[in-house]
Amino acid sequence: MSKKKKKVNLFIYPTYRCSNDCLFCFIDPKMRNKKNDLTLAEIKKNINYFDKRYSIQGLALVGGDPFLYPDIIPLLNFLNDKYLSCSKIRHFTLCSEALKCSSMSFVSYLTKFFGSQTSFYGSLHISLNNFSPNDKFLEKRKKAILNLAKRGFRLHFVLVFTKNNLSAIIKAVSFLTNIFSRYYSDFSPTDFMVELRLPFNSDDNKSGLFILESKQFLKSFRQISNLLFKKQIPLALRNIPLCYLEKKRLVTLDRVNFIKTNIDKIAVRINKENQFDKAEVNTFGKKGWSLQKDCFSCILKDKCNGISFNYINYFDYPVLKPLVK
Ligand code: SF4
Repeated sequence: MSKKKKKVNLFIYPTYRCSNDCLFCFIDPKMRNKKNDLTLAEIKKNINYFDKRYSIQGLALVGGDPFLYPDIIPLLNFLNDKYLSCSKIRHFTLCSEALKCSSMSFVSYLTKFFGSQTSFYGSLHISLNNFSPNDKFLEKRKKAILNLAKRGFRLHFVLVFTKNNLSAIIKAVSFLTNIFSRYYSDFSPTDFMVELRLPFNSDDNKSGLFILESKQFLKSFRQISNLLFKKQIPLALRNIPLCYLEKKRLVTLDRVNFIKTNIDKIAVRINKENQFDKAEVNTFGKKGWSLQKDCFSCILKDKCNGISFNYINYFDYPVLKPLVK
């Protein structure tokens, strides 16, 4: 009898290079150079290595920005031919700033990955932390999102709160609510999602580099989440507990299609330094954020991912408010 293979999700870092230098990014800026790019041959061999030993449930290209990887087209073609179009791997994610999608011909090429008709579930995750008038890419960014929305791609926007980007996040969310009303109100909830995060790189948490003053964070978080709730835009939270939402929002949570992150999922991180048997295998929850002891009595504990202990401990974040019947 064949032994059942363990299920894993591959996170591949083709390049660390990126057009931005976000404060919370855990990639050392010195690493953002060509010599830390994986070669196409290395990527193929790594996928093959894990495919033989595990059951690959999902594959994500992360970074850096994978769209800046010089061999991105041959890589995507390889993934499509060998793993995606035959549904060998059923979930595909690419995390990017998506600036390259300001070109409509590039967006047309991507339809086979992120369009709504694919046989697998492909989703483009777009980082949107620098949406301010000072952002030299602002117009390009808007054009890219518009191009993707016109094609009805599956889009997941990731916005990370930092000390300096509150007004940028508010502007980004207001831009996204317009895009949603115009192009996505009839789509399935998984086709358009906004994810709000506090950074969860625990070493950096202690440096306080990017930590917001807690009251200011809560006020802005509620303002932003209220905008999303009003339009019933699907929402995900990482490292932000549900009890930080306004109480009246918790009543309508199901209508908003709130998505909980599966933190027990096994992630294999493959980058230049860590490949094959050296790749880092971990669950999302181990290093990041979790429910706290106060959550035991809370009726939301099955929906909520909690928060990193560091925030409450070091940064005087608002106390948790378990919701009890
Ligand atoms: S008390 Fe805990 S489980 Fe309940 S909403 Fe807050 S963080 Fe989540």
